[in-house]
Amino acid sequence: MKELHPETLCVQAGYKPETGEARIPPVCQSTTFFYGDTQKMADLFDLKTEGFFYSRLANPTVDALEKRVAALEGGACGIGCASGMSAILLTALTLCEAGDNIVCAGQVYGGTYNLFRVTLQKFGVACRFFDVDAGPEEIDALIDEKTKFLFAETVANPAVAICDFAALSALCRAHGLLFIVDNTLATPILCRPLALGADIVIHSTSKYIDGHAAALGGMIVDGGEFPFRDNPRYPAFNVPDESYHGIVYADMPAAFAVKCRAQMMRDTGAVMSPQNAFLTFLGCDTLALRMKKHCENAKKVAAYLDAHPRTEWVRHPSLPQDPYHARMLRYLPDGTGGMLSFGIDGTAETCARFMQSLSLITQETHVADVRSCILHPASTTHRQLSREALEEAGIPENLIRLSVGIENAEDVIADLDQAFSRM
Ligand SMILES: *Cc1c(COP(=O)(O)O)cnc(C)c1O
Repeated sequence: MKELHPETLCVQAGYKPETGEARIPPVCQSTTFFYGDTQKMADLFDLKTEGFFYSRLANPTVDALEKRVAALEGGACGIGCASGMSAILLTALTLCEAGDNIVCAGQVYGGTYNLFRVTLQKFGVACRFFDVDAGPEEIDALIDEKTKFLFAETVANPAVAICDFAALSALCRAHGLLFIVDNTLATPILCRPLALGADIVIHSTSKYIDGHAAALGGMIVDGGEFPFRDNPRYPAFNVPDESYHGIVYADMPAAFAVKCRAQMMRDTGAVMSPQNAFLTFLGCDTLALRMKKHCENAKKVAAYLDAHPRTEWVRHPSLPQDPYHARMLRYLPDGTGGMLSFGIDGTAETCARFMQSLSLITQETHVADVRSCILHPASTTHRQLSREALEEAGIPENLIRLSVGIENAEDVIADLDQAFSRM
């Protein structure tokens, strides 16, 4: 059969009932699964056959979502995690030991930055950050034989910067190095990193894939094609794992996913719950429709803000003057989703008055769901920083982050308009 389109995969992939079974994947609320046959159970433990035996390692509801997101990304398999952060942590734990390092774009989600910069550092894993606009030589200089992966976000949260897939994937190919991409804000509807040279894709499904602000979740998608076999960078994939009765991961199809699940999910238990998988699966049905609307609305709102006399600047790649407009045309031609930022002509106090006057758009520490929401980092998430430190972090005190929802764009603009008039 011809490869199905993303809109079709959104509603069809991941679950197919047998005659008389539930049409959508039921919440399989069971920790464990019954087997009458000792040999069948032994084969499961030996990874010789597929099946469920304990929900820490696999669960039918989570499995449906894993298959759906993997199909959307064009990958070999998915691993459902408790949150986006746990997906990133599991990925790092699967690849790194003390003495290793990660090379990561500086423009990444704050949680990722802290995990790599502070927490993993305490366990002897270093992180070297590069500017997403740095040239290949500069990034190349950060890679050594102890580098285990290069990490970037398709569309960075909150910087709305787009990574240079061609340059980063060429660099990783040349070094036999894994290229891992957090595709949370783009979603596979707007961009498929595996087709652009990435080896593994990560999602916080808590954002657009769920889309309704209902369920935390994370997903790791293994492209399944990275050549681990005899790659000197990855000895742990080429020697028997004594903690898993001598399995050599490089011998397995989708070696990364097998190691991640059999070793790190086993040891951490940072697994997605069946209830959250169910809610996320439902949300994902409408992902393609929603992303189209988010892009359409954000484009209109960005143009409105750009033309408004009380904004100093607007950052959204749909604007022709945006520094990432060219990369958007190349990698995400349908748009970059609903997130944008802008600078108000005024101080932090002016921003506070503006925010207070909004009525439809709500103040939240969240992005990427159906409702428009807004945040003033200088007075909330980055409150502890001095004005100088804010500037250094690329967050001027007048910066406002807006995640445009799927309401009628005219209503969102009208709300902004009346707030500007009261500022
Ligand atoms: C929110 C987010 C995360 C973390 O996901 P959680 O589900 O909140 O743990 C990681 N990466 C990006 C790009 C995000 O926006």
